[in-house]
Amino acid sequence: MRPNLLNPLFGALTTLSGVGPKLEKLYRRLLGRDEQEARIIDLLFHLPTGVIDRRARPKLKDVVPGTVVTVAVTVDRHRPSPPNRPRVPYQVYASDETGDLILTFFNARRDYLEKLLPVGELRYVSGTTGLYDHMLQMVHPDRVVDEEGLAKLPLVEPVYPLTEGLSLNQVRKAVDAALLRIPDLPEWQDLPWVSRERYPSFADALKTLHRPASPADIDPKSAAWKRLAYDELLAGQLALALVRAHLRRPAGRATPGTGALRKQLIDALPYSLTNSQSGAIRDIADDLAKPERMLRLLQGDVGSGKTVVALLSAATVIEAGRQAALMAPTEILARQHHATIAPLAAAAGIEVAILTGRERGRERADVLQRLRLGGIHILVGTHALFQDDVEFRDLGLAIVDEQHRFGVHQRLALAKKGEAVDMLVMTATPIPRTLVLTYFGDMDISELREKPAGRQPIDTRTLPIERLDEVTEAIGRALSEGRRVYWVCPLVEESEKSDLAAAEDRFAELKRKFGQWTDLVHGRMKGSEKDAAMARFAGGETRLLVATTVIEVGVDVPEATVMVIEHAERFGLSQLHQLRGRIGRGAERSTCLLLYRAPLGETAKARLEIMRQTEDGFRIAEEDLRLRGEGDVLGTRQSGVPGFRIARIETHGILIGTARDDAQLVLSRDPTLSSERGEALRHLLYVFGRDEAIRLIRAG
Ligand code: ADP
Ligand code: MG
Repeated sequence: MRPNLLNPLFGALTTLSGVGPKLEKLYRRLLGRDEQEARIIDLLFHLPTGVIDRRARPKLKDVVPGTVVTVAVTVDRHRPSPPNRPRVPYQVYASDETGDLILTFFNARRDYLEKLLPVGELRYVSGTTGLYDHMLQMVHPDRVVDEEGLAKLPLVEPVYPLTEGLSLNQVRKAVDAALLRIPDLPEWQDLPWVSRERYPSFADALKTLHRPASPADIDPKSAAWKRLAYDELLAGQLALALVRAHLRRPAGRATPGTGALRKQLIDALPYSLTNSQSGAIRDIADDLAKPERMLRLLQGDVGSGKTVVALLSAATVIEAGRQAALMAPTEILARQHHATIAPLAAAAGIEVAILTGRERGRERADVLQRLRLGGIHILVGTHALFQDDVEFRDLGLAIVDEQHRFGVHQRLALAKKGEAVDMLVMTATPIPRTLVLTYFGDMDISELREKPAGRQPIDTRTLPIERLDEVTEAIGRALSEGRRVYWVCPLVEESEKSDLAAAEDRFAELKRKFGQWTDLVHGRMKGSEKDAAMARFAGGETRLLVATTVIEVGVDVPEATVMVIEHAERFGLSQLHQLRGRIGRGAERSTCLLLYRAPLGETAKARLEIMRQTEDGFRIAEEDLRLRGEGDVLGTRQSGVPGFRIARIETHGILIGTARDDAQLVLSRDPTLSSERGEALRHLLYVFGRDEAIRLIRAG
């Protein structure tokens, strides 16, 4: 139950005077509440993005046109719009001892202006100045006040992101009212730390940011912003730590393998494992052998060989008589994993089956039965694995590939499929360090930093689309040398149809040139058609595969050595890296051609340049974060994983490590959050919407 103390923060926005049902709709949009009611807390977390600084108080002769100033002027005379010509503006002439200023109003009401600016009186006017007809003017001053009003005039005013129909003044007023609703909250941060960092309290931090005294106050680096960012990060880390503690209880089962199957598999591999692969396999086997439940993240670059690590980990639990599941985010990937793993596994007598939305009827029933009886050792599949009627005889290890598309919920759902299931999560490409802690702070980490031996560097070049003819010619030469080529056309969500048309046109054109070597695969095709196209390409039946980004994740055709990416400027850095990772997988030298349409924006230019410079996925991940900010790196927008409202990963990312340590320390001392600070921290979890985690705390 939410502490009553927090009720004012969670009250509906409509309880603020001036916010009726109509405006509330707009606030929902503004605050990202979509179908839900907008609450006071949502508005309080809507932080200003800038300020209007009215502190400049020059004499009129010193005013720089175009700037915002507050000037003291005497009103000299009014010049109302001529009768019947309301479109001529109403002007008020004013001056100080150094010069003149014309105040200009459109559609003005005379009586109103005569009251606001009485002739002969001194008034303070604030707004943006300009030069019109060689005269210093101010069109619609933001503020006109007398001496008394000046004392109350905020000289630094926050500017908020808006949505159509909501004015800055409306939002400011609503925020002012909302600030009054902040209750007296217990301090949930460590007190010595708060005072050492000179952090204001939660309430004061919000007040400072919404009522800045200087532009520096609303800098993300300000103490106020940092305080709130840290609150948010700590809430996140605390929630993850609670999930971890919950999964650890009941304790896992020790699953010590014998090593027999692993040895058979390793002996049968056509290559030897890299040191990082061996290291990761050892980490995992050690975890499995322990009675606590494993929660481990395997980070590796594209092509670093995560699949075989997954297989050998599965082998460990199979040695102990248990089963493993491998879940992939897409149908193609699941089939690919199955195709890779099954023949290797066969060498050790391991039974592998697949289950996706496509297995139905008899086939499905058969898989389910064998699974229940233990005849299947590894089940590969998509989300379909976690439907209710899927029962394992004894699931020991759940492996999730490309996990960042899933959320904490799926982690919990997965864990429920067996008794004390150990969990291994694999990322598609490396994730920047700060984000790993943010989303996987509850996990132990293994990294595959090496690439398998014998990989050749990929020659990456950028070319304007105008040179398409040259590119096509070069592709023709590559094809006649027997090389295999991916040709990627982007699919941008907004206009899926027209993009698909673009890919189909490109396909038709290339097919005219290169005939039956050419094939097409795209996201709108049926699963079986996609598989068939991929299989033809993998088998060498076709050699030029025009594709939308469906080939982005995981697809493995080591013979493919050329990739053309059209409209490379439309892709994010990680996505480009991910795509490029489809080539350079064999011993042959590979080439990647990034075609772009000029002119390039700064970010796009930087992205393409980094692609030319490096193939190191760990570095690319960091650069991507720097260039785009967090949401895009994790693709959170699509998957709906809640991002941050206050913390800016670029600025506050370094605080995550501290927050993680803090969260772990707190829970080690007070696992049920019942000490004084623990109680306060429960408030924090509610404030940042992480209260779901509180339900995981077992009473007592
Ligand atoms: P990813 O980490 O991107 O999932 P994969 O597991 O698909 O990588 O492996 C990429 C390719 O590298 C596969 O063709 C696989 O057979 C091969 N591979 C994996 N490990 C090694 C190794 N140690 N030496 C040589 N090739 C390897
Ligand atoms: Mg993979």
